[in-house]
Amino acid sequence: MESRPPAHPLSRRDFLHVTGAGAIASLAPAAIPFDQTQAPPPPAIPGAPAGWFDRPMRWVQLTLVENDPGRFDPQFWLDYFRRVHADAATLSAGGIVAYYPTEVPLHHRSAWLGTSDPFGTLVAGCRALKMNVVARTDPHAVRDEVRAAHPDWISVTRTGEPRRHWANPELWVSCALGPYNFEFMDRVHREIVTKYAVDGIFANRWAPQGGDCYCVHCAKNFKDATGNDLPRVTDARDPVRRAFLEWRKARLTALWKQWDATVRAANPNAHFIPNGPPDLKTAGELAAIQFTDNQARRGLTPPWNNGRRAKELRSVMGRRPIGGIFSVGVEEPYRWKDSVQSEPEIRLWVAEGTANGMRPWVTKFSGVLYDRRWLPVVERIYEWHFKHERYLRNEAPIARVGLLYSEQTAAYHPGVAQGDRAEDHLLGMYHALIEARIPFELVHEALLTPDRLEPFKLLILADAAALSNAQCAAIRDYAARGGSVLATFASSLYDETGQRRNDFGLADLFGVSFDGRIDGPMQNSYLNLDADPATGRRHPIIDGFDETTRIINGVFRLGVRPAMSFPSPMTLVPTYPDLPMEDVYPRVPRTDTRELYLRDLGASRVVYIPWDIDRTFWEVMCVDHGRLLRNAVRWATNEPPPVEVTGPGLLDVTAWRQRDSMTVHLVNLTNPMMMKGPLRELIPIGPERVTVRLPAGVRARKVQLLTSGATPRVETNGSTISVTVPSIECHEVVAIDT
Ligand SMILES: [Zn+2]
Repeated sequence: MESRPPAHPLSRRDFLHVTGAGAIASLAPAAIPFDQTQAPPPPAIPGAPAGWFDRPMRWVQLTLVENDPGRFDPQFWLDYFRRVHADAATLSAGGIVAYYPTEVPLHHRSAWLGTSDPFGTLVAGCRALKMNVVARTDPHAVRDEVRAAHPDWISVTRTGEPRRHWANPELWVSCALGPYNFEFMDRVHREIVTKYAVDGIFANRWAPQGGDCYCVHCAKNFKDATGNDLPRVTDARDPVRRAFLEWRKARLTALWKQWDATVRAANPNAHFIPNGPPDLKTAGELAAIQFTDNQARRGLTPPWNNGRRAKELRSVMGRRPIGGIFSVGVEEPYRWKDSVQSEPEIRLWVAEGTANGMRPWVTKFSGVLYDRRWLPVVERIYEWHFKHERYLRNEAPIARVGLLYSEQTAAYHPGVAQGDRAEDHLLGMYHALIEARIPFELVHEALLTPDRLEPFKLLILADAAALSNAQCAAIRDYAARGGSVLATFASSLYDETGQRRNDFGLADLFGVSFDGRIDGPMQNSYLNLDADPATGRRHPIIDGFDETTRIINGVFRLGVRPAMSFPSPMTLVPTYPDLPMEDVYPRVPRTDTRELYLRDLGASRVVYIPWDIDRTFWEVMCVDHGRLLRNAVRWATNEPPPVEVTGPGLLDVTAWRQRDSMTVHLVNLTNPMMMKGPLRELIPIGPERVTVRLPAGVRARKVQLLTSGATPRVETNGSTISVTVPSIECHEVVAIDT
């Protein structure tokens, strides 16, 4: 992400805690059911691309600094764009600094601009390379002269002070929701598109920055809209706070629509593209293209996080193009913006985006380079991408598992107790699916329609706590149509505003009711693994645990009452003392309290787990919990998977259909340096055996490995083909011409 102020107000509560930066941008998990036998082609995929936006496959962004004009060499950059086969560019134009001779009063021309027009020069150069060009603006800060002329354009702090910029005290933070953006920046955008006929405007940091704004415009507009004074509380469950969050979203949506109308009035083929939509649902409704600004990992961010951002975007964008902005620098809190990180780290991050259907967008600050080591690295990545473009122009993912992505849970559900955080459940489930090598998509809560859900055999609710009655009904209908559901913990126990229900919204589907008890954090609790008393056999959901009769429990659990009879493969061993050692023995070694509820409804299977298996997995990474989740997915899915990969290591496995081919991407995640980046070297893994189930009537005409260039021996068995990938360094793609 391009620089992050303290307390970025747009970000959902703690949403990016683990993941580093990244406002997300935002249509349909349009996965194609792979085994729709003899079926006609799938229905038109929601969110089909329109206009020029689907053409570019490789993006570049050059963000100029104020003293670049006269110092940087535009031709150097244009030559680089050509060498990397970039087909679209985002170039600095205006906002904080204008890089062209603007006529808009108070639009600050670079002090180094003179009579030059570096933006115009770069636009003309890119046009000559047949590239699409988007102009970048950044409206979030202004100079003293703007504040003097329009004090009401400046963001106001809670204590009534004009808000200084947190990183550069010479600047003031502008109010994003008032006349500065709606009037001044509107003029700037009109001027840029009119003068240069660019294909779009991309605005960075266009939403409120540095904290809530208490200016006269925000106070009046909020009062007019809701009848309330601006809230002073930050608890998202407070009704006025919630009204404020919804109002802010509506205001940003209005701003998006206004800027888009302005841009299109000047060039009907152009669009406004926000860096980070008000929320994903809105992006699904408005965007022709979206990008994740998730430039690199930091701290303990897992490398699959870039792929996760792609899945989030696709959950609302569907077939429309999505891009992954990556920087080449170190993205840690100290913000060494001119830094360059290791080649393996850059390659792995981009590979995760590409494997998950995002088009690469490299961003670089400063037209003058101090460290050039990244140049050949990105050139090699883009060269590979260019060479294999036809296999990267995906029509749809091939995945039978959907994981519900709930923005309202992130916004309005702080957890059932201290120490519980809904996002940790999602992250744990995500990691378990990666480890299990199961291709999956994210499914957005706002789009639980039959056509969106149809590709999936299984929908997973990883503590999807906040669900509306309508969303619960859509999930119930999905199960009635034969879909399976795996739900954990507090899924559906809260409504869409975060208010707790008396019982699960999906109690009838789970077959259990909430009894009001929340236990945890629990010390030293276990789960007995039990054979069926009638048959003496264990349930397949506890396959692989033959050598033990118990495993560790999670940390939080909900008390539930079954409303029907259930098998009983797993029961509670309650907490007992963990000190002194003499006292560490189970006081109640056996209960009949089930901790796993399994329903086999024929076509549909339902798994409900009343404890925090996913959250504890994320925290503790216990191998037993990972295995149990994998078994639960297999049992609930109850069909052969579309892709199976066996062999050593940790791999992200994704699968796709293109117009005349299918691909399986394998990203080697074994490499990260212990638990933390940045990695220094790529250590190849393999061999991996890859088995792909072809849709009925489809033949594999040719199979190749895109990275190694090899043509593997293909074994055909009915509708499946198998190949062996000898070795994967970072990213390999099995490409199947059909
Ligand atoms: Zn304001």
